[in-house]
Order: sequence, then C-alpha cells, then structure tokens
Amino acid sequence: MKESSNSPKLIFEEKKAIKLFLWLFNVIFFSFDIFYYYILPLYSHKNFNGNQRDGLGGWLYLPIIGLLLIAFYFLKKGNPYLIKYIYIFSYLCIDIVDNLVRYLGTTEQFASGNVVEILFILFSPIFVNKKYFWTVAVGLISKDVIIGLVLHDFYPFFPALVLLILSIIAYILLTRFNSYINSLTHVYEELYQKEKLAVVGQMATAIGHEIRNPLSSLKGFTQLQQERNPVGNEYYPIMIQEIDRINSIVDDLMYLGIPKEMKFEKAGIEEVIAYTLSITQQQAERQGVAVETTMVGPLPPLDCDEKQLKQVFLNLIKNAIESMPEGGRIQVLVKVIEGQNMNVSIQDEGYGISDENILNLGEPFFTTKKDGTGLGLMVSNQIIKDHSGELKIESEIGKGTKVNVSLPISHKN
Ligand code: ADP
Ligand code: MG
Repeated sequence: MKESSNSPKLIFEEKKAIKLFLWLFNVIFFSFDIFYYYILPLYSHKNFNGNQRDGLGGWLYLPIIGLLLIAFYFLKKGNPYLIKYIYIFSYLCIDIVDNLVRYLGTTEQFASGNVVEILFILFSPIFVNKKYFWTVAVGLISKDVIIGLVLHDFYPFFPALVLLILSIIAYILLTRFNSYINSLTHVYEELYQKEKLAVVGQMATAIGHEIRNPLSSLKGFTQLQQERNPVGNEYYPIMIQEIDRINSIVDDLMYLGIPKEMKFEKAGIEEVIAYTLSITQQQAERQGVAVETTMVGPLPPLDCDEKQLKQVFLNLIKNAIESMPEGGRIQVLVKVIEGQNMNVSIQDEGYGISDENILNLGEPFFTTKKDGTGLGLMVSNQIIKDHSGELKIESEIGKGTKVNVSLPISHKN
C-alpha cells in the first residue's frame, strides 16, 4: 500500500492499525514489566532482591509514556503514518542505550529481550507495508547483532536468531496479505472496466440507432443528387466518403454495446485482405504509402465472420497508413503456422507507439489522433477474441509498428 495515498479510507485503516498496535504495545510492555520486575520477585523463594530493572531503570517508563503522547498527537493531526516508525526507531535507541548502560563494563551476563520485540515483528503485517516490515526486521536483528559485537558477547545472537525466524513468518503473512489485496484490486479494476464498457455500450447503441437512419437517407439523397448532377461536382464523393466514415464510427460504437451475432463461414483470407486494401488504396496513395503484400501460399479457407474480419484489417491498415503522414511502406504478410493458425502481420514504418501508450491501447476512446475515435483497436481486439484468435502489437518509437493477428483456421464450436 502506498503511504502517500491520502484517501480518507486508507488513513482510517492506518489509524485502526495504529490503535491496535498502541494497545498491544503498551499492554504487553507494562504487563511484562510489572510481572517480571514487581510480581515475580514477591513469590521468589530465593532471597534475592528481585529482577531489578537495571540500565535505565524506572527512567525507561518516561520515554514510553512520551511516545504514547506523541502518538496521540499525530493521530489527532490526522497523520498516523509516521507513528509506527517513531515507535520502532525510539524503541531501538532506548533499548541500545538501556543495554549498554546495563552491561558495558560489567561482567553481568546478557539476558535479553523484551516481548515487545516479538510484538513488533509478528504484528508488522497489520500495516500491510513492506518498507515498515523491513525497517522492523532489519532494525531489531541488527540491534542485537551490534550489541553482541560491542559487548563482545555471544548471547545477543540468540534473540537475533529467534527474531529472524519470526521475521520469516511475518514476511510470509505480509506477502499473502499483499497478494490478496493485489488480486482484489485487480478484480475491482476489471469490473470497473467492464462496467464502464457496459455503460458506454448502452449509450452507444442507443445513439447509434438514432444516427443510423437519418444517415442512410442522407447518403441515399446524396447519391441521388450525384447521379442527377454527374458532371462538375467533385464534392459528392467526399460527402459520401464522410458519411461512410460516420457510419463506420457508429458501427464501431455499436459493436461495443451488443456484441454482434457471429456468422462463421469459410472465407478466403486473400479476399478479405484484398478488399481492405482496395478500400484504403486512395488514402494510401494520397499519402505516398506503398503496400506490399506477401501470401505464403497455399492458404486454406478460414472459418470466420468475413464482414467482421474485414473491419479488423481495415482498422489495422488504416492505423498503419495514418502512422506515416510522410509516406512509407506497409508490409502485409500472410502465412499458415503449424497448419492450424492463419497469421497475418501488418508492419509499418510509422512513428510507432511509446511504451506508456501501449498500455492504454485496450482503453475505449484512447487516441493520440486529432480526429481519432480510439475505438478501432479495441473493437478489432474484441472481434479477434471472438474468433478465439490473438492480436499482438510490437512497436518502436520512430521505427514503426507491427501488428500480428493469429486466427485458428477452423473454429470449434
Ligand atoms: P484511432 O485510430 O481512432 O486513434 P485506434 O484504436 O485505431 O484509434 O488506435 C488507438 C491509438 O493507437 C492511436 O491513436 C495511435 O496512437 C495508436 N496506434 C494504433 N496503431 C498504430 C500504428 N500502426 N502506429 C502508431 N500508432 C498506432
Ligand atoms: Mg484507428
């Protein structure tokens, strides 16, 4: 979890974790002390003067209470994230000083460890924060090691070993928490994406229906006008072309709403590609783009919805042409792979796609073009998926883009 996140929900969770931690810390610290230094000696048969708290003695309680006050202050201020670090660092400092005051220059045997150290480590996963876990584990273990080295004593290494084992347990717990949270987030994001699509889709279908009818009469009348007025008006073809463009956008939009009924029939991939190239030919020529097609034959007929595949390749080839405003070459390669898959790759020499944008390609309406819709790739991807195929994009900025479509030749249903 990111600590920089200021979401009130996350701050609330952190506060809950901190409160739990403060309770446990203080209850364990004080009950251990009271039991060990005040109650146990009363019942001890030996006539010894108790497990005196040496080192800092009773002064130790002062910083512990001080810490609690600081914690309350930060909780009030609404900034709970620091508290756990303040605790672990202060504990480390206090304990080092305490131990050194107690053992340095004496022959007394080192006797370790406070139970709160076990609390620190075992409960570190409640903050679901790897940085904090490492601070606690490395801090506590190296503290024991340092004390051992300074005192030239072997004993502090034992608690270090115990802490190491506990750290491993805590680490396993923490990674489980983390991976669970990650998959929840993932599921949520997927759902969100689907929901967004569903809403967009419903809207698109509704609007699409409304646009379609007036559009087809518009096209009809334009064609009629063109026939009546055959000479001297170069605007009609442009008008018809633009109407077709609106139509194809509407088609794309409507595909998002209701996935169309698939009609699987045998079709020749050669025809599909030839059709798309004929449609895009004008645009390519205008931009000085040459298209080279290689078919590594013989190519068996393909089980597919021909109309939809045409739409896919139309989108892909259009994108390739649009990526080369200064002209260039597109290579279309069609071949059969392992007798099962039809592989079509479309490679351009265009401006390419940045790594950052590649991640956005699946998003509806993601476009970098002035008059783009950002629907082409998304719809194409969906159609290919509906064919149980795969669409992959490799791209290098400034060099070009290669789109690879792989389709099963026969469709199992
Ligand atoms: P549109 O073409 O309407 O922008 P698409 O879904 O077809 O929508 O493409 C989305 C984006 O992906 C484009 O805006 C472009 O940035 C990028 N893109 C797709 N194909 C290519 C390509 N061949 N070369 C460079 N960029 C591409
Ligand atoms: Mg496009």
